[in-house]
Amino acid sequence: MEALLEGLNEAQRSAVTSPAPVVQVLAPPGSGKTKTLTARVAYLINHERLQPWNIIVCTFTIKAAREMRERIRGFVGEGIESKLILGTFHSVARRFLFRYGHEIGLPKNFGIADSKESASIITRIIQRQQFSVVPGHARGRISKLKAKGVSADEYAATQKKADQQEFSCVYAEYQEHLRGQSLLDYDDLLVQCVELLRKHPACVSSIQAVLIDEYQDTNNIQYELMKLMAQYQRRITIVGDPDQSIYGFRSAEIKNLLRMRDDFPQSIVAHLEKNYRSSDCIIKTAKAVIEQDDSRPNKPLLATLCAGELPTLRHLATAHIEAKWIVEEIHRTKTLTAGLLNYGDYSILLRSAALSLSIERELGKAGVPYRMVGGTRFFDRVEIKIVLDYLRVINQPDYNEALTRVINLPSRSIGENTIKALLEEAEKKRITLWKLVLDCAQGTRRPECRISAPAQRGIDTFVNVILTSRLKFFPKDGEGCSLVELISHILQKISLLAHLKHVYKDNWEDRWANVEELVIQATQVATSLSNGEEITDDILPVVEGIEQREDTAADTLSKFLANVALSTEIEKEDGEKSSQVTISTIHAAKGLEWPVVFIPAVFDGSIPHSKADDHDEERRLLYVGMTRAQALLYLSCPVRQSRQENDTTLSKFISQRSIQKLFNHNGPTIGCPTHGCTVLRDLAQILRRPCPDIAEIEAARVLLEYPEDVRYPFTREAMDGEESWNTSDVSNYGPGQQKKRR
Ligand code: ATP
Ligand code: MG
Repeated sequence: MEALLEGLNEAQRSAVTSPAPVVQVLAPPGSGKTKTLTARVAYLINHERLQPWNIIVCTFTIKAAREMRERIRGFVGEGIESKLILGTFHSVARRFLFRYGHEIGLPKNFGIADSKESASIITRIIQRQQFSVVPGHARGRISKLKAKGVSADEYAATQKKADQQEFSCVYAEYQEHLRGQSLLDYDDLLVQCVELLRKHPACVSSIQAVLIDEYQDTNNIQYELMKLMAQYQRRITIVGDPDQSIYGFRSAEIKNLLRMRDDFPQSIVAHLEKNYRSSDCIIKTAKAVIEQDDSRPNKPLLATLCAGELPTLRHLATAHIEAKWIVEEIHRTKTLTAGLLNYGDYSILLRSAALSLSIERELGKAGVPYRMVGGTRFFDRVEIKIVLDYLRVINQPDYNEALTRVINLPSRSIGENTIKALLEEAEKKRITLWKLVLDCAQGTRRPECRISAPAQRGIDTFVNVILTSRLKFFPKDGEGCSLVELISHILQKISLLAHLKHVYKDNWEDRWANVEELVIQATQVATSLSNGEEITDDILPVVEGIEQREDTAADTLSKFLANVALSTEIEKEDGEKSSQVTISTIHAAKGLEWPVVFIPAVFDGSIPHSKADDHDEERRLLYVGMTRAQALLYLSCPVRQSRQENDTTLSKFISQRSIQKLFNHNGPTIGCPTHGCTVLRDLAQILRRPCPDIAEIEAARVLLEYPEDVRYPFTREAMDGEESWNTSDVSNYGPGQQKKRR
């Protein structure tokens, strides 16, 4: 007990140990909500003697789930934490569906269509029907309707206007398409799970507690799911912060915070007010930004750390120079703190992923190692997709989308027109594409469309690859081969290495290395499945009266694929995390923290984004970004995006003079000869790290040089004290003022 509550303040402790069935922790960033939630899970296991497999914990990202699992392990002992039903809402829903989905008519091996797959299915429907609906809009609307629990039929029944009928047609056909291929999209996972738990509540009869992090971003269907999961014991802990609600575009409802009070009147609300993450200056500035929204209730947020450095706000000439400046600043601060900061302590948070290009280029040029969160996922790389699509077809030959992508990969002389004609024919005959090509290869049915002799041979080869692989993995009798053996079999059958060498002459080695990495991952998944970790479903309790599917070795494949579909982050880490700068969208940085945070492109049109309707939400997004920083925070704004474009306007969220005054307009005074040592001591205190030797920093300072176009203010004159270190006067350093200064 002592160890568990150690390091928690009074308010956190009482939330952790509260006997109340429903506990809500509503508190600002960095106040230890996630820490409290984690400790409460451990408390329920260690002191209330709940069994871990009777506890559901929902986090927002897979990364957060992983981190939480690790933290809980420290309290409850190795192995126990792996028995928790812990993951994102989607992965928890998937587990229940995998185990009990047959009760509501789901096929055994349902696949999961990730967002790209959904998008491509919708685009194809719209193109074929020659509708005027924009695919992106249609997808968003379908997702919103599903989040509200409105089915295609229910929607169709209420719509009369022509354009709505078009959309309603797309919705219906899309659902039909998914059903035909035994696929569920992300939203369906939640919708179907709600249906399952409504019709068969016994599936959750053993659940004793439900805990949810980042509650402010749950949407209606997730709220419903939470209530259903907790329907027996009605024991719920939620933690969240309305000021950090940033998923309105995914139908998150702040209203759910209020609903909670009506639905669970016996709940207690705990308020945490102390921030343990950021320096006082960072907190003050972030608060000033969020407090511009006067419709929100004001909550106290008290700093526990020292004042630290003022956040920096810089104007740079162009986006390119802004990127150079960021890289320079990383180099400078890293050098001048002599070992206090590593590359892994830096993150660059973007309003939209598209901004990363010039930053990536500059980091690359300077040889700074970095990792992209939410960029091209490992699983989205071409060579990996080929292997995964083969696995998908082997798992579910009816999966038209995957089959269409690989039937001619590597090239088997089956042209695009032939594939299109076959697809149309299959749709007309209401059979799957696999059935058609299988019949065609086995000579039991001649397709109506004309197929050339080489294409026919290509189809034969393809069918042979799939059939032999299925026979190896799902043999009629006895045990099938392992997942790794299956992948090796495919690689050899389709000569992937030769294909990569042929098509990607420049970088086939890298691509092949990725494929080898996939094999390693498959090995790990197989091992973790047999150890009962992460994606096992064995932990769901046996329920009387409901038939429970037994896991078989063959299920490894569908679980592996489900895991791939649900992973939203890059899974492959190139090297040590602690030695890489992180580039991420602000959305994906939720709940995380870094010693140093850069937020570039802080201008109107970028944040608030030109396409965003809800500017309050955009402001909250900036607030989330700013509150990720522990010690150093930089906001920057290119005066022009490129040489040709018009001048940008500083984001309206920070343009008020009172807010500008909270910033330093040069850069942090690390390395300043007069008070550099104090700065360094403060930094070390904020990061709870030992302070490096000041003499080393003196030596490093002399060696630093700055490129001209970054116009770094720490010139030799500045170092010699000619420049004023008092940077609170904004007027000197606005855009266009740089020349005057030099
Ligand atoms: P966010 O809203 O951004 O998700 P949060 O409220 O979940 O933030 P945590 O991530 O749990 O905050 O905690 C922020 C940091 O403060 C973490 O580094 C955590 O270890 C530390 N922390 C939390 N509570 C305490 C405490 N009582 N004493 C010392 N450090 C603490
Ligand atoms: Mg948190």
